[in-house]
Formats: sequence, structure tokens, C-alpha cells
Amino acid sequence: MTVIRVGHLYPDYLNIYADRGNIAVLAERARVRGHELDVRSIGLGDPVPVGEIDLFYVGGGQDREQDLVARDLAGKAEPLREAVERDAAFLAVCGGYQLLGRRYRDVGGLDLPGIGLLPLETVAGDRRMIGDVLLECSWAGGRTLAGFENHAGRTQLDADAEPLGRVVHGFGNDGRSGFEGCRYRRVYGTYLHGPLLPRNPWFADRLLAEALAHRTGGVPVELEPLPDDLERQAHEVSAGRARSRGGRF
Ligand code: GLN
Repeated sequence: MTVIRVGHLYPDYLNIYADRGNIAVLAERARVRGHELDVRSIGLGDPVPVGEIDLFYVGGGQDREQDLVARDLAGKAEPLREAVERDAAFLAVCGGYQLLGRRYRDVGGLDLPGIGLLPLETVAGDRRMIGDVLLECSWAGGRTLAGFENHAGRTQLDADAEPLGRVVHGFGNDGRSGFEGCRYRRVYGTYLHGPLLPRNPWFADRLLAEALAHRTGGVPVELEPLPDDLERQAHEVSAGRARSRGGRF
């Protein structure tokens, strides 16, 4: 039995659309494999215990909540970067994803600092991008991710940045580039909200495998598959919605 340590950044502020449900999925999928998730919250003013945390998680929030945490997060940039270079895993959703870039200019034109962990910048536009999304991840053998997006921010990846996936249906990072999210080492940033991991079990297992590898000092090993009948159905429903009504300009 291995205890996987999760550092949940700002759970009181960044938890829109029940983003914390992703942690429940990780905990259950770890449990059935005989492991345990030890979730610690890292809030305003709390230090980042580099080396101790195997998987960081930050959820989404509106501009107001992002404004409340952005400066504090900027103060944590160094230890978070160090943890990532030392192979900790990191999942960042929507508002949290935006703050992993260099900056976020909100709808009021206010510049919030990001931590520069991911090679990207985000500027809010007038029209929100709302709808179901389907992505294809070439780095994962073409496996797909299905989810829901709701954001004003348009995210531009640097030329050498790796997206999380190619948009099959939906808006993605900016509604134009055809890219969604960003990936660096074991860091995954995405606009796909709350029910991301319940509908995409392969991605949950990928994060768990990377977090386990961080804990044991080994390489990520694919976990024993689970039946996942309901999860597959949830993915299909979500992918079908993206096909029929995924957003586009
Ligand atoms: N405030 C950001 C935007 O609208 C993030 C929104 C969110 O996390 N849902 O772009």
C-alpha cells in the first residue's frame, strides 16, 4: 500500500462546478488498487512542501476568486516549479490553468500574475466559450478526453508549447487554434471542468501512475484496468453532446 500525497491548492476559492470531485475519483481509483490518497489543502499563506507532494491540484474559479489568490500563488511559483522539475504531477483546471501561465488579463482589463509554469498567456474576450468539448490526445495514442468548458479567457500557447489535445468539437484554448490545454513534464492544464476525471478514467489513471512514480522514485507504470462501464458510458454521452452541440464561433 502506498500513500499518495495530494496538495489541493486553494480549495476554498477555486472549486467551481465541483472541481473537487476530481479528487474523489482519484481517491477511489487509488483505493481499489490498494493505495491511499492523503489530501492536504494548501491555502493562502501556506508553504508548499516540495518533495512531499506527489500530485498538485488546482480547480477553476471566476475572475473574482482568481484575483483573491493570484498574488499568493505568484509567491509560491519557485517551490511549485521546483516540485514539477522533480517530477511531481499537477492537474490544473480552467481558472487554475490560466494562473499557471505567465499572466491572465481579466474581463475588466486587470492583469493578474501567473506563475509561468506553463508557456502561455490568457486574455479575456467579450464572448464566453461555453459548451461540451471533445479532444484527441496524440501523446496518449489518440485517446480522447470529453468534458465541459465555460470561460471568457482566450489562451495562447507559445510556439513550442505542447497542447493537452487537439479539439475535435468545442472551443478549446481560444476557439481558433484547434488546441486545448497545455502539457509540460507531468503538468496538465485544461479548460475541461468538474466532471473531467469521472468521464475520462484513463486520464485519472495516468495522473495516479505519475503520482505513484513520484512517491516511489520509479517510472510510471500503467495501473491494472478497472471495469469502467459507467465511466465509458459517461464519456460517450459527453462526447456525443460535444459532437452535436460543441461550441464554435
Ligand atoms: N475566469 C476565467 C474565465 O472566464 C475562468 C473561468 C472558470 O474557471 N470557469 O476565463
